[in-house]
Formats: sequence, C-alpha cells, structure tokens
Amino acid sequence: MGKVINRIRYLFMAKPDRTSWENFSDYLISQGLRMTGQRKAVFEALFRQSGHFTADQLLQDARKMDDTVSRATVYRCLPLLVDSGTVRKIDVGQDNKFYALNESSATFKAQVICSDCDRIFDVDAPFMEWYGRTVSEKLGLEVNDQRLQVQASCPTFASKGACAKTN
Ligand SMILES: [Zn+2]
Repeated sequence: MGKVINRIRYLFMAKPDRTSWENFSDYLISQGLRMTGQRKAVFEALFRQSGHFTADQLLQDARKMDDTVSRATVYRCLPLLVDSGTVRKIDVGQDNKFYALNESSATFKAQVICSDCDRIFDVDAPFMEWYGRTVSEKLGLEVNDQRLQVQASCPTFASKGACAKTN
C-alpha cells in the first residue's frame, strides 16, 4: 500500500523527535537549502500544534520563537515539510487547508468533520486499507492515495444546535 496509508495521529504537544529533525535537515540539504533560524522556528512550532492545524496557527507559534517569521516564510516552508514527509496536508474541501504531523501508525485514519464548527476528528478505519487494496487488486491497479471524509455533528452541535467556531 505504501503511500496509501498516510497516517495521522492526534498529538498533543509532542516533542520534536530526532528522526523528524534529521529527516527534515537531510531533505533541505538534498534540495540545496539551509536550515535557517526561521525554518527551525517553523519546524519547532509544528510540535506545539495539537492534531490538525492551519498555516496561520503554525505562523502564530513560529513567531513566538522567532518574530522575523512571516506568513510568506510559513507558506514557503510548508511544501518543504510536506515533501520531506514531516507533515501531511489534509484537504477537507474547505477554504482552510489543514496539516498534521505525519506520524507513523499502523491504522488508516478517516476524518470526521463537524458540519458547523469544522472540527476534525480522526477515527481508525482499518477497513479502508482492505477496501483500497481489494478494489485496486480487482482492477489490477496500484493505489496511490485514498481518503474517507464523513460530515457529522459534533456533540456541541448536536446538543445546542451551534458550535463555537474553533478552527
Ligand atoms: Zn461542531
């Protein structure tokens, strides 16, 4: 399945781990780029995010570490973080693009999105691996990517009829 099972895990205040750091540094070198103070701040800000985050949330935290980080810095750095496999882009079909740390986990995650507050919940969906593999094998194809998104009402929406807009 390879890339199919791009895995996300809900992380709270994870510590930047050595492997992610080395991967990202190696990737920059391979692209002829340097690990600047600004890129370092963006990288470290990643580990202050909980679960899914937007470029703006990353910007706010990166600025706390290095106030010279601009929106452009973050927008230029994000594709590098995605290409190096450090983070994963999550397209939930909304204006805001979300990102998440690309932690390895054995199980495919599906996203369940609240229709009102846009909060994103990850759920284990191991059947998706089976489904992707089965369908592609039947057709003699190789799966490159697959996603499952479910629109739902979060508990607040369900009980109060509206949510605080958190995302
Ligand atoms: Zn909600």
